[in-house]
Amino acid sequence: MVTAPSDAAGPLAAHVWSVPMRTRFRGLDVRDGVLVQGPAGWGEFSPFWDYDVDESRRWWRSAHEAAVLGWPDPVRAAVPVNVTVPAVGPQQAHAIVTASGCRTAKVKVAEPGQSEAEDEARVEAVRDALGPDGAIRVDANTAWDVDTAVRRITALDRVGLEYVEQPCATVEELVAVRRRVDVRIAADEVVRRAADPLRVDLRGAADVVVLKVQPLGGVRAALAVAEAHGLPCVVSSALESSVGIAAGVALAAALPELPFACGLATVALLTGDVTSEPLLPVDGALPVVRPVPDRLAEVPADPDTQQRWRTRLAAVQAR
Ligand SMILES: [Mg+2]
Repeated sequence: MVTAPSDAAGPLAAHVWSVPMRTRFRGLDVRDGVLVQGPAGWGEFSPFWDYDVDESRRWWRSAHEAAVLGWPDPVRAAVPVNVTVPAVGPQQAHAIVTASGCRTAKVKVAEPGQSEAEDEARVEAVRDALGPDGAIRVDANTAWDVDTAVRRITALDRVGLEYVEQPCATVEELVAVRRRVDVRIAADEVVRRAADPLRVDLRGAADVVVLKVQPLGGVRAALAVAEAHGLPCVVSSALESSVGIAAGVALAAALPELPFACGLATVALLTGDVTSEPLLPVDGALPVVRPVPDRLAEVPADPDTQQRWRTRLAAVQAR
């Protein structure tokens, strides 16, 4: 446990957690972050290490909202979720999907260093595991140019895709790809990393918006983004512990419409969790609950990592 300096965290004590990933994901072998406890409950601050202080301020607002304000009332008691399949081989992909009990799978594609054949083998294995009625979406995390995206999406759609998430980096490229393929396009990075996520012009660029609570600055801020774009929304995680995932569940539970499964079943990608009651899917859904981090002692961060988080926390709170 780390208690942040009182001028940095105010009355909120900060607890640093660190957990190895089961499989390398998003270039990460370890996931870590900070939990804070306030009058409304526990909040998580865990911007990835490639986010600078300015970008991380929104992540802090999300943690502060969770701990101090709490969240809007839910309109549903459970949130359907997809299983997330990292850039693993087909046998492992099949096993991950089968073990999840989920009817929707999100499959990572375009991983640096991997071949197109590896992507195709992975989505085929996932289709085999789900059967014809399951839904498959892929996420390229901005990796492709327009022509590559059109070619890759067309090839991957042989298994039937629900949507493709962020095939290219820019809004203009998404518009160009969307004109040339029959698969829905989901906008993630172009919204989440925009200077103002409310003002990104997604007309012609996307059919679905991916909402992530921490990068957007909290549940209320994400609800405003959903309203501004007027498109179907999918809530995804930022690979948080169950405390952070609960904020995503709160957002998904508060959205007026929820037509797609959400990407919140990512605790399974971690080898441990901060709570004895992790937010793992049962029958393809997560309950709307607030986990208590009663296992912080089992996910300790080394002193250097604790200090680095203390520094980040102080930086985002400084004016
Ligand atoms: Mg994404």
